[in-house]
Formats: sequence, structure tokens, C-alpha cells
Amino acid sequence: MPTQTKSYRQLRFIFLMATLNLMVGATTAAEGDPSAARHNVILVTIDGLRWQDVFRGADERLLSHPDGGVKETEATREAYWRDTATQRRATLMPFLWREVAIKGQLFGNRDRNSKARVLNDQHFSYPGYSEILCGYPDPRITSNDKIFNPNITVLEWLARRPGIGPNVAAFCSWDVFPYIINIQRSGLPVNAGWTPIDIAHDASELAAYNRLMTQLPRMWSSVRYDAFTAFAAKEYLRAKQPRLLYMSLGEPDDWAHAQRYDLYLDSILTCDRIIEDLWQFAQSLPQYRDNTSLIITVDHGRGDVADQWTSHKISIPGSDQIWIAALGPNIPASGERTDVEVTQSQVAATVAHLLGEDYAAAVPEAGRPLPLAVDVHEPATSAR
Ligand SMILES: [Zn+2]
Repeated sequence: MPTQTKSYRQLRFIFLMATLNLMVGATTAAEGDPSAARHNVILVTIDGLRWQDVFRGADERLLSHPDGGVKETEATREAYWRDTATQRRATLMPFLWREVAIKGQLFGNRDRNSKARVLNDQHFSYPGYSEILCGYPDPRITSNDKIFNPNITVLEWLARRPGIGPNVAAFCSWDVFPYIINIQRSGLPVNAGWTPIDIAHDASELAAYNRLMTQLPRMWSSVRYDAFTAFAAKEYLRAKQPRLLYMSLGEPDDWAHAQRYDLYLDSILTCDRIIEDLWQFAQSLPQYRDNTSLIITVDHGRGDVADQWTSHKISIPGSDQIWIAALGPNIPASGERTDVEVTQSQVAATVAHLLGEDYAAAVPEAGRPLPLAVDVHEPATSAR
């Protein structure tokens, strides 16, 4: 083929692409600011991460004491011990404290009379996740058994709302989530446990992750490593751009049950990095930049007294104590909230509210949205 024809074709191609770009730009401009029309939410949970560690950083009582089960005390102290709580918590969760706490809000620091708690009377995972996702406790849920949730989650509810659904998806380390979100009824995509990942932009990377999932030793049969959940969530976000993405991380709870405070701390830092990576990636995409909110919370607390930190149940004080973080363009930068009481049951309506939907009105038993802003939910005088 003569060179001249080739360059003419190339030129014509470039001209066509430029025209197309102009047309797309004109369409977008005509529709107004697309970020105003399309708000998104990323909901993240970190299983069993205590408010004590979130707000105070590494716990001296567990770093050096046999109760913590720390294998290399020196190295662990070097990594996580600092003189002040402010330094320690920023060392443990740098993204939460340098980004979310500065630009968003945090509930649950009992040292500042900020109380967040669960309403269910079980204080373990399935009842907690059901309360987070449905907006109310269900006394019928008394185990972590793989039973399909009789209740409709806010994920399922939002997936059925015109203008939001059906693009809602969940990526979870714990393999009970297909039951909590009731995939049988909801039909939502829920990738959980040691299940192969099926979407990624790079086929060889996808194959590598799935190969590793079969080749690595498994610490827990029902909980995969959070690195896999993180990869699956990010790749889904890239490929499908859901309005609501739920990422459920699991390792901290399991390292705590194993009485390994060192690995518990490591996994918390990893969770923080995973969330930062997902958040920064979302902000790099036009669909999510400056129009996405992030909610981070936990399914239950755990014991506070030294030998009770590993576990959580109704008989262990503190198991009902949680924390909630929120960041987004419509959330005032109030930082650490003080003198306030909120509950786990408020998360579902908050997620819906941030997407412009009134879940609390549709589901009367659900908690009200969190008092994040000076708006219709609070008189201006009492809000901050
Ligand atoms: Zn647990």
C-alpha cells in the first residue's frame, strides 16, 4: 500500500476521532454537570476492628504482654508504637487519619464521648452485617450459619431503584456473604470467600490472582485473604462502574481470634492501604471523581480487658461498641464527632441518602441516616 494513502487514512482517522470527541464533549456539556446527576457510594467494612485501635492506635497492653501473642515484640513496637495516640493511630491507619478524618467525619471515639454501637443482641458477624445492610436488627438471626437472609438489604433495595440499579455489587472475604445478601433472591453479584475472581482488565493478572488463590496455604477455610477481595473490587469498579460498591474485608477479626496482635495490626494497616488504593483509583475515573462517598464501618466490637480482646459476644463487655467513618463531597469536614450517639442500624439509610434515596421512609424499622450534615435530619442548632 502506497505511503501517501496510508497517511491520508491516518489523517482521516484522526480527524474523525477529533470530531467524535467534540460531539461527546458537546453532549456532556448540554446535559450539565454529570457529577451532579450521578453520585456513587463505596461502602467498606473491616471485620472486628476495635474502635480502641482505630482511635488510640496500637495498644500497649497487648504489644508486650503475653495476652497479645506478639511473636517479635521489638519489630512490632518499632512498626506501630509511638508516644502519643495521635501518632499511633496515624501510623496504623494513615489514610483514615490523613484523609478521612481531615475531610470527613468519624463516629465512635468513646474517649471523646462519641458512641457508636450495635442494636442487635448477638455482637458477632452475621447479625452485625445484617444490621448494617438492612438497617435494623433481626432477633431471628442468632448464628453465623449459611442461611439465606429473610430480610432485604439496602444493596438489594437500591439495585431495584430506577436510576441506581441494577449496578450494585459486593466483594467479600467471608464466604457467608452470599447468604447475608441473599443472592438467591437479590440476584446481586457477590464474589466472596475462596471463589475465583471473574473480571479484570488484564487476563494474565486475573489468572495469576486466581492461581495464587489455589496455591497459597489457607489460614481460614471460610475467609480468603483481603488482597484478593481488594483486587476483585477494584477490577469490578474499573470494568462496570457500579453506583454502589460494597467491599467487605475480613482478616483483622481472624488474626484477633488467633490471638496474634502483631498480625492483627498488620492486617489493619493493609486494610487502610486497600481502602486508600480503591479510593484513589475511583478518584482517577471521571465517573467517580468528586461525586463519590465512602463509608467505612465494622460489624462488632471486641473485648477490651487484656485477655478478652480476642473475642466478642454478648457476655464480653465492649462487643457492641463500633465506629463509623464517612467521607464525600456532601459530607462536611467535621472530623472526629464528639458528644454524639449513633447506631449500626443507621448505615443502610445513610448509604441510600447519599445516593438520593429515602430508605428510612420506605423501611420504617430502619435507622435514620447518620447526622452528617446540617440538613433536614437535624435542626440547625444541634448539628455541627
Ligand atoms: Zn469474630
